[in-house]
This record gives sequence, structure tokens and C-alpha cells, in this order.
Amino acid sequence: MAITLDAQLLEILACPSPDHAPLRPGTPDDADAEALTCTECGRVYPVRDGIPVLLLDEAVLSGAGAPGTPGEPDDSHADSA
Ligand SMILES: [Zn+2]
Repeated sequence: MAITLDAQLLEILACPSPDHAPLRPGTPDDADAEALTCTECGRVYPVRDGIPVLLLDEAVLSGAGAPGTPGEPDDSHADSA
């Protein structure tokens, strides 16, 4: 279920880390996830009951770095052997 955050609200929200970058809905892996991803540091913030939790303690680093950079190869695929 995609989150339906107000476009205006999304404009006001910013990453709590020093980059203070804008956030975008979803995660790098799932654009429909109930989360907000920082466009700068790639931290993923949960959205609980429609309320974005913009706390560094709650943020999850996506590991793939900033959105737009290719994710790390998924080594769970063993079909190349
Ligand atoms: Zn950030």
C-alpha cells in the first residue's frame, strides 16, 4: 500500500541528518513501501499510521547508498555456478 503523503507536507519534510535533503516516498527497493527515503544519504525512515518518523535512531540505511546508484549484487542467486 503506497503512502499518501501530502505533496506539500513532503516538501516541508527533510532528512534529520546534517544533509537536510528532501525525502521521497517509498524505499529504493519498493516505491510503494510505507517509508520515506532521503535523496542524499539514502536513509529510510518508517511511516507509522501515516506519520513519518524522522528520527536518526529509527532510520535504516538502505546499504545501496544514495538512490540512483546501482544496488549491490544480490549474492543469494546461485544460478551462475
Ligand atoms: Zn539524509
